[in-house]
Amino acid sequence: MSKTDGTVIILGAGQAGGQCAASLRRNGFAGRILLVGDEPHPPYQRPPLSKAYLSGEIDESRLWLQPPETWAEQDVQLRLSTRAKRIDPDRKLVIFANGREETYTRLVIATGSRVRTLPVPGAELDGVRYLRSIADVDALKADVQPGKRIAIIGGGYIGLEAASVASKLGAAPIVIEAMDRLLARVAVPEVSEFYRQAHDQRGVSIRLDSQVAALKPKSGLFARGKAVGRIELANGEKIACDSVLVGIGVIPNQELAASCGLTTGNGIVVDEACRTSDPNIYAIGDCAEQLNWLTGTRLRLESVPNALDQAKRAAAAICGVAAPKPEVPWFWSDQFDLKLQTAGLIGAQDTTITRAGPDETPRSFFHLADGVLIAADCINDPQSFMAAKMMIQKRASPDPAALANPDMAMKDVMKAAMAGA
Ligand code: FAD
Ligand code: NAP
Repeated sequence: MSKTDGTVIILGAGQAGGQCAASLRRNGFAGRILLVGDEPHPPYQRPPLSKAYLSGEIDESRLWLQPPETWAEQDVQLRLSTRAKRIDPDRKLVIFANGREETYTRLVIATGSRVRTLPVPGAELDGVRYLRSIADVDALKADVQPGKRIAIIGGGYIGLEAASVASKLGAAPIVIEAMDRLLARVAVPEVSEFYRQAHDQRGVSIRLDSQVAALKPKSGLFARGKAVGRIELANGEKIACDSVLVGIGVIPNQELAASCGLTTGNGIVVDEACRTSDPNIYAIGDCAEQLNWLTGTRLRLESVPNALDQAKRAAAAICGVAAPKPEVPWFWSDQFDLKLQTAGLIGAQDTTITRAGPDETPRSFFHLADGVLIAADCINDPQSFMAAKMMIQKRASPDPAALANPDMAMKDVMKAAMAGA
């Protein structure tokens, strides 16, 4: 495709879609860019939703990926509150829910993911909330005020970040997790235990191994029929609450792709350039499943760095310029005064090394497979995070005793490991 003409339609005006539009222009694409999203807002970042936006420290304007007027300045046509309904790959056509149609030269699907809903009776009661969008958080803010009892179902990132904000604001959060540990999907048991203790010490109640059986309405003289008032666990326990926040994971928005015949699995299957099984259609961000260079397995990653990387990759392929170098996947989470930075991907590790901080509490955790560093979780420890990221990139084998020794500077641990890599 020529860099000077043609139309690129991007479906989904979120983190990945917005970045892809900006990267196309940065790569010199001079044709038409149509960025279509079904939300009423210009492209925005979601990470602050469960952090500074929920706590009220920042307002909506601080969420925008770039000032809204910049889209027009970059000649990106932003079409908001518009939902794509169907793709016709033979006619290179997108059909929208409002009946309009648009043709493309290249199509980028960046439709993200949606929340998994709670599959129990009572889940439709008033006061049962989710946390994915600006609208969700605007509704949730009243439930994290002083004295409010908020029951949080799911001990993943969403649940724990929201619990930390609720607790800081003076609400009384209780986290209910089905598994026997927190962050079970994304962290090793040592990190789960660190966060269980951290929340416990800061006044957040945690219930592990707890399956929710039903939500029940408030009862009593002044109760109004539809508001949630109680959670019933499978073991019979009843937990009174004023509201419920559900954070039990997400489902990729891949139906548009599947229904037009593109290959899908746990996400829309793409190659290293983010191209789907149709060479004119790309998929990026939370909705895409791609072979990961580090693990050698197909993965669907749900993170901002992944959304940005795939957006740049697709834009480079569309413009015929060199793709960015593969990066080590990384993640972060802010809870209370603790900043977790994770480099790499867990799964294949056979050893986890704990490095203590100055006050003897664990600070960073390094995960090794056959002696090679594959991932690290670093808490308030940016030096270890940066060093680990570089060592993972080089598939280095740091000395386990040196990793565990807080008196040895991380830069020296890294230097020794890189010399042998
Ligand atoms: P999104 O940003 O979700 O954008 C997809 C957009 O497409 C949405 O606006 C959606 O409404 C729209 N859409 C869907 N279907 C259609 C359709 N048919 N037509 C038109 N538009 C459509 N990641 C981190 O790395 N660090 C964090 O700290 C972090 N915190 C998070 C906190 C919260 C509360 C949430 C919800 C997520 C967080 N994430 C974090 C994850 C991160 O935000 C996502 O991985 C990232 O937003 C994925 O980008 P995306 O563009 O694929 O999807
Ligand atoms: P998540 O990380 O998948 O965690 C959900 C947790 O809820 C899992 O531990 C899950 O256990 C548990 N669960 C599932 N069903 C349950 C039930 N019925 N009762 C109790 N617990 C249940 O998802 P999330 O925390 O909802 O986050 C949603 C998305 O936002 C993800 O894409 C996440 O990456 C993103 N996010 C990221 C950050 C960050 O990177 N800092 C912050 C916030 C959100 P199972 O594993 O057994 O299903």
